[in-house]
Amino acid sequence: MLTKRDFYINGTWVAPASPCDYQVINPSNEEPCAVISLGDQADTDAAVAAAKAALPGWAATPPKERARLVAAILDQYDARLQEFAEAISMEMGAPIDFALEEQAPCLPWHTQNFLTAFEEIEWVRPLGPQAPGSAVVMEPIGVVGLITPWNWPVNQIALKAIPAMLAGCTCVLKPSEESPLNAMLFAEFCHDAGIPSGVFNLVNGDGAGVGSQLSTHPDVEMISFTGSTRAGKAISKAAAETLKRVTLELGGKGANLLFADARDNAVEWSVRRMMENTGQSCNAPSRLLVERSIYDKAVAKAAEVANSIAVGPAHEAGPHVGPVVNKRQWEQIQGYIQKGIDEGARLVAGGPGLPEGFNRGFYVKPTIFADVTPGMTIEREEIFGPVLAIVPFDTEEEAIRIANDTPYGLTNYVQSSDPVRGNRLGHALKAGMVEINGKSRGAGSFFGGVKQSGRAREGGVWGLEEFLEAKSVSGYDFTLKDAAE
Ligand code: NAD
Repeated sequence: MLTKRDFYINGTWVAPASPCDYQVINPSNEEPCAVISLGDQADTDAAVAAAKAALPGWAATPPKERARLVAAILDQYDARLQEFAEAISMEMGAPIDFALEEQAPCLPWHTQNFLTAFEEIEWVRPLGPQAPGSAVVMEPIGVVGLITPWNWPVNQIALKAIPAMLAGCTCVLKPSEESPLNAMLFAEFCHDAGIPSGVFNLVNGDGAGVGSQLSTHPDVEMISFTGSTRAGKAISKAAAETLKRVTLELGGKGANLLFADARDNAVEWSVRRMMENTGQSCNAPSRLLVERSIYDKAVAKAAEVANSIAVGPAHEAGPHVGPVVNKRQWEQIQGYIQKGIDEGARLVAGGPGLPEGFNRGFYVKPTIFADVTPGMTIEREEIFGPVLAIVPFDTEEEAIRIANDTPYGLTNYVQSSDPVRGNRLGHALKAGMVEINGKSRGAGSFFGGVKQSGRAREGGVWGLEEFLEAKSVSGYDFTLKDAAE
C-alpha cells in the first residue's frame, strides 16, 4: 500500500502539521490502496502563504515564459502516462484502457487548447475609438483555491490549474480525498517542469477541512470548484464573507431528445454514452426522451445494449465499465434503483444488487428504466451511476418542456437528422451545452452550465478569463511598448 502523507508546498514535499491518516480505497476490491493525510488549518495557511509570496513574481513573468513552463508539464505527462493512468484507475475505478485513452489525456487536450487560446489574450485592450486613452488591462486575479472531484479527476485539475497558472495566478489545489494520487503526480509534473516554487501547491483534505479553509481564507481571491450542487452552495456561502469570486461546475440531469428521424445507431450511442465512466459524469445523458412512434423499438434496443455492457475490475484491460467510486455512491445508486421500482417505472435492464459473479467491489449493473414519467425521483435527481431513465414524448414542444423542467442545466443532447430541428433545439434547450447527433465539443470550446449546474465556463479563452480581472485605466499611452506583451 502506498503511503503519501506529504503535501506539495512552495516547491517541495512537506509533512503535514498534524498527520491525520485517510485510507484511499480501491473500489474494484474494497481494499485500501493508499494512505494520505488530511490537512488542517496550518497546512492550508502554509500553502496559501506560499502562493501569496510567489504571486508577484509569477504575475510579472512574461506570458510567453509562463506558457513555456506550463507547456513543459506535457513532457512530464508523456514520460509518465502509464503511471498516471494507473493511479486514476486504481483510486476511482476507471478501467485501465479508459484511464489511458480518455481520462488521462484530458490533461494534454485541455493544456494544448489553453495554450492556443492563450496566444489570443490581449492583455491591454483599447476601449474603442470613441474613448481614446482608455484601456482595459487584464490582470491575474491572485491566489486561487482549486477544489476538484474524483469522477474525471485529471480533467478537472487541467481545467483549473492550467489556465490559473497561464493567467499568472498562483494556486492551491485540494483534490478529492477519494482520488488524491493522480493529483500528487500532477504536482510532481509541475515540479519537474520547472514551475517556480509556490506557483502550484497541493494540500490533501476533505471538504469540511481544507475545502472550507480555502473557501473562507482571506488571502484567497477566488475559488474554482467542481463537484456536487450541495457543496457548491456551501462554498458560495462560505466565500461570501470575503467576497471571493466563486466559479462553480456542479451536477446535471442531462436530457437526450431522440426523434424518429435519428440516425440508426442513436439508441446505442445514447446508452453507451450514459454508461461511460460507470455513469459518473455530470454531463451524462441520463434522461432519454424518445418520440412515441419509435418508443417500443428504442426501449428494446436500449435494454439489449445495456445487457451487452460488461462490468469488471479497473485493472483489467478491455472496454468494460468499472465499479463506482465508493460504498456511499454504491448505496445511493441502489437506493435510486429501488425508488425507480417503487415509483412504478419499468425495469428493462440491470436492477438492484451486484452484477452476477461479484461478491465484492462497488459494481453496479448497467440499469435502464422505461416508462419513466416527469416528476419521478429518477427523472429529477442526479443519480451519478449507470442508471438511464427513458421517458416517452409525443411532440417536440413536450420534449422541450420535459427537458427544461429541471433545476439543472449542464448538457442536453439531440438525436435527429433534421438540421433545422437541431438548430432550433440548440436554442430552445436551457443548458450550458447542447450536443447534436453525438458531436462533442470542439477544441477550444468551454464546459459549463446554467441554473443549479453552476455557471462556470471552463476551457478555451473563457476558461482563461475566469482567472483574470479587468481593470479600467484611463489616460493610458498606447504608443509605449507594454510590459505585458
Ligand atoms: P463533492 O461535492 O462531494 O466533492 C467535490 C470536492 O469538493 C471534493 O474535493 C470535496 O472534498 C470537496 N468538498 C465537499 N464539500 C465541501 C465543502 N463544504 N467545502 C469545500 N469543499 C468541499 O462531489 P463529488 O462526490 O466528489 O463529485 C460528484 C459530484 O460532482 C456530482 O454531483 C457531479 O455532478 C459533480 N461534478 C460536476 C462537474 C461539472 O463540471 N459540472 C464535473 C464533475 C463532477
